[in-house]
Amino acid sequence: MASKMLQFVKTEKQMPTKRTADERARDFDEIYKDFSKQSAEEQASRCSQCGVPFCQVNCPLHNNIPDWLMLTAEDILQEAYEVSSATNNFPEICGRICPQDRLCEGNCVIEKGFESVTIGAVEKYITETAFENGWVKPAAPIAERAESIGIIGAGPAGMSAADMLRRQGYQVTIYDRYDRAGGLLIYGIPGFKLEKDIVERRAKLLADGGVTFKLNCNIGTDISFSEIRAQHNAVLIATGVYKARDITLPGAGLDGVVPALSYLTASNRKSLGDDVPEFDSGDMNAKDKNIVVIGGGDTAMDCVRTAIRQEAKSVTCLYRRDKANMPGSQREVQNAEEEGVDFQWLSAPQAFVGDDHVDGVLAQRIHLGRADETGRQVPQVIEDSTFKLEADLVIKALGFDPEDLPAMFDEPKLRVSKWGTVSIDWKTMMTDMPGVFAAGDIVRGASLVVWGVRDGRDAAERIHSYVQAELAGETKAVG
Ligand code: FAD
Ligand code: SF4
Ligand code: SF4
Repeated sequence: MASKMLQFVKTEKQMPTKRTADERARDFDEIYKDFSKQSAEEQASRCSQCGVPFCQVNCPLHNNIPDWLMLTAEDILQEAYEVSSATNNFPEICGRICPQDRLCEGNCVIEKGFESVTIGAVEKYITETAFENGWVKPAAPIAERAESIGIIGAGPAGMSAADMLRRQGYQVTIYDRYDRAGGLLIYGIPGFKLEKDIVERRAKLLADGGVTFKLNCNIGTDISFSEIRAQHNAVLIATGVYKARDITLPGAGLDGVVPALSYLTASNRKSLGDDVPEFDSGDMNAKDKNIVVIGGGDTAMDCVRTAIRQEAKSVTCLYRRDKANMPGSQREVQNAEEEGVDFQWLSAPQAFVGDDHVDGVLAQRIHLGRADETGRQVPQVIEDSTFKLEADLVIKALGFDPEDLPAMFDEPKLRVSKWGTVSIDWKTMMTDMPGVFAAGDIVRGASLVVWGVRDGRDAAERIHSYVQAELAGETKAVG
């Protein structure tokens, strides 16, 4: 074992410096600064190089974390980058936005009484150093292949699959209905978690490596799915989930009651310098308004923190369970609290009030009752507990479901689950339609970027096997 490791006894856990809440509320830049070389080496050296590294087991990509921590501690960074990028197409993105407290770091088994190694921040440091030194290169396949693969969706699942397939020499085209590549990385997740040039840098690298992007191209509207299928040896569906779950309460149709993703997309577009009429008109802008966000997941946290940065008069989050039961990352809740968000735990909306435009939310207090069959305590309304919150803009962040893909693609044969997610054979990652694969949120339901990357990589491998088997079959038939 390297002598530099096992420093957790002497060296305390440190996160990269976080900008003060006051400072970060004034812009959309990331809130964490980069590790200095010295901090990254010191923090990496805290790892005890476990025989069975639970950090690695609980990383969806099974990143070889102990090895790249040791290489960082020893300042062998190019090798650290090679190890880290061997299992992850976008380590600098995962290092920034994975909920590490639930994945790698939450499962770090450094000795009791010592806090976990700061894995995500070191992963980001390694890859940013690699970019600075020109070690991150576009795909350069040893030989070109004639076969082509069509990928629908330029989110993390589609982009990681494209990267893997292009490296194998396939002709890869990604179609996306948006005008920029990145999916939710670009239009969902706000810049204070992931600055947009980080995503654009990856899209450019793919294009420089020979991946063709066809943007502003909605499959099912601009080009039919069957046309895409006919053009390629295999097709990957990586379209994500975009149908906002709605709320059926009195007043839900009032102006000023808006879905979270429309609100976040307007804000992200504004930061990217686009013309955004719905932002400029004030409809999707929190400035000087009382904002109420409904929900307790990561999307709700992104909305409340965006509203703070847009200089809202007040920002309240209504969530029907308590803090311990929030589905969102605790780290993000803490960031929101520091930035001045008022959390009304154990509270649920009862009605939205106003004439044409919302001006308030009636809410009720909740008591958590007995656990149901899933083990979660059931929220129960406390009688006569109604209270009113002033609200000029109400943002609904209640989760997402898939759109009706068989209808959208005019492919009734495309089998979906009862939730509308595309059904695949997990061994082959193929749908019921031969040569049509699926990956990411459209298969799992709303999930995480790191799972999108994992699925994209797995799908690329299975597509390669499928295409090669098809080619072998053709050769045999001709012979
Ligand atoms: P997406 O990223 O949704 O990409 C799908 C792409 O398909 C889109 O670009 C879309 O335009 C395109 N598309 C869809 N239909 C068509 C069509 N018919 N024709 C052409 N193109 C089409 N995860 C984390 O790990 N950490 C976080 O901090 C985090 N924060 C989040 C915050 C918000 C607000 C949201 C909404 C999600 C967040 N997530 C986070 C989840 C994460 O963003 C998703 O799990 C991930 O992006 C899914 O990747 P994907 O490639 O499957 O789909
Ligand atoms: Fe942790 Fe995510 Fe990196 Fe895996 S990809 S090591 S879970 S930050
Ligand atoms: Fe190092 Fe923690 Fe992983 Fe063990 S679990 S190898 S201490 S990072």
